[in-house]
Amino acid sequence: MVDTNSSIRSRLCAIVGEDSVRDSANERHAYSYDATPIVTGAPDWIVFPQTTRQVSEVLRLANEERIPVIPRGSGTNLAGGTVAVAAGIVLNMTRFNRIVEIDESNLTVTVGPGVITADLHRAVEARGLFYPPDPGSMRISTIGGNVAQGAGGMRGLKYGVTKDYVLGLEYVLPTGEILRCGGKNYKDVAGYDLTRLLVGSEGTLAVITELTLKLLPLPESKRTMVVYCKRMVDAARIVERTIAAKIIPATMEFLDQSTMRVVDQFAHLGLPTDVAAMLLIEQDGVEQQVDRDIDRIAQIARKVGATDVQVANTPEDGARLMAARRSALAALSRLRPTTILEDATVPRSELATMVSEIERIAEKYQVQICTFGHAGDGNLHPTCMTDERDAEELERVDAAFAEIFEVALRLGGTITGEHGVGMAKAKFLPKRVGEDGIQLMMRLKQAFDPNGILNPGKIFVRVPDWQHVAE
Ligand SMILES: Cc1cc2nc3c(=O)[nH]c(=O)nc-3n(C[C@H](O)[C@H](O)[C@H](O)COP(=O)(O)OP(=O)(O)OC[C@H]3O[C@@H](n4cnc5c(N)ncnc54)[C@H](O)[C@@H]3O)c2cc1C
Repeated sequence: MVDTNSSIRSRLCAIVGEDSVRDSANERHAYSYDATPIVTGAPDWIVFPQTTRQVSEVLRLANEERIPVIPRGSGTNLAGGTVAVAAGIVLNMTRFNRIVEIDESNLTVTVGPGVITADLHRAVEARGLFYPPDPGSMRISTIGGNVAQGAGGMRGLKYGVTKDYVLGLEYVLPTGEILRCGGKNYKDVAGYDLTRLLVGSEGTLAVITELTLKLLPLPESKRTMVVYCKRMVDAARIVERTIAAKIIPATMEFLDQSTMRVVDQFAHLGLPTDVAAMLLIEQDGVEQQVDRDIDRIAQIARKVGATDVQVANTPEDGARLMAARRSALAALSRLRPTTILEDATVPRSELATMVSEIERIAEKYQVQICTFGHAGDGNLHPTCMTDERDAEELERVDAAFAEIFEVALRLGGTITGEHGVGMAKAKFLPKRVGEDGIQLMMRLKQAFDPNGILNPGKIFVRVPDWQHVAE
């Protein structure tokens, strides 16, 4: 049955209340994009549910009327994951912002999906506990967005990423059923692992309404160091030799020369401009062990030929060194009107090869690409500064990134290490998982979402046949 827009609006208001349905031109415009450049699409309505029951009722209505629903946290994803390509309802989950329980016996925290990542860090750290995943956007991003996107961060090397901390979920199917999977058990192999399936499902399978996450004891101390190298290959070798020496630092980040230059102009950190790369390394844990690891990494770095090694003596010094990495994207985005940040990932041993391939490709297509990222994870962020108004340049940028992903795959890597597929990478996914892989994923999608109403146009280029009432 096809309903009219105004009757859909009144039915939405009846579920969540008049104040929680927005559809002014300004608000529809504000929700027509996320942190991803170039892609846009305005929703018909932005709906702010506050209870799981309301989410269920909105989904039932949308499913009945075949209206696309786009779950959204803070909209900081870089894959076009919350763009309303087919209009419909943006389901803004930020009002689910309650920390329900910090369970010190089971070392778990139960939260609403709208809790801001950094707020969760603060809340658990106040109890001497630790939630390691720390995406660069953590002061804005939501836990629901982190989990649905499968976010990574700077502490992935030692502690793993978001997916490694999700124990249980409450979620609502697009057909309205409210379900739970997992819980507080650290061990649970009862049936298929639906928790893992929903992590990284990018809002295409279900809407997450509550999460139980694993915690660790807060490490007692932390130290930071920075290493400058004349050649990228030296930086890569330091990473490899450190790990081969059985030291797993909490963080091993790198910036290439072009990123360093831009960051220094932006943040005035006094970075050298005559080196090819810098590594930012952080170790945490028991104080003596941290000191020993930092000394050993410094020895390894000098032996490999680092031009300089600086160890922060105070936490403030450490934070100053880390500022270079944290300000990389902000610094780069000042250069040109459009900044495209990608996240090709390769086995750690291929890091130096991948960086030089990116340089070659940038030269070939005459585009400006700076690279930084998580060296310890082989997760690179080649970032292109361009101007979306210049169609000819954008074609070259597209061709350059297509070749970057091809090279990453050839080196045994992947098209995305942490930002997800969304719209941005959908066309590359078959190259990563194969046509049979796509078919299987689409069958899973159909089992969860028979009418294809949940976040259409994401992950898959081809979508099941859904109908949009407002067209
Ligand atoms: C400056 C900057 C730095 C960043 N650094 C990192 C980084 O270090 N590592 C990293 O991995 N990413 C990083 N990102 C990308 C982004 O911040 C992450 O993907 C983050 O997890 C998105 O969270 P969000 O709340 O903004 O989610 P949104 O962007 O709102 O949504 C992300 C996806 O999750 C879905 N979703 C959201 N909430 C729900 C829900 N409750 N139920 C079901 N689906 C839902 C959406 O439909 C969408 O597909 C960065 C982005 C920026 C702008």
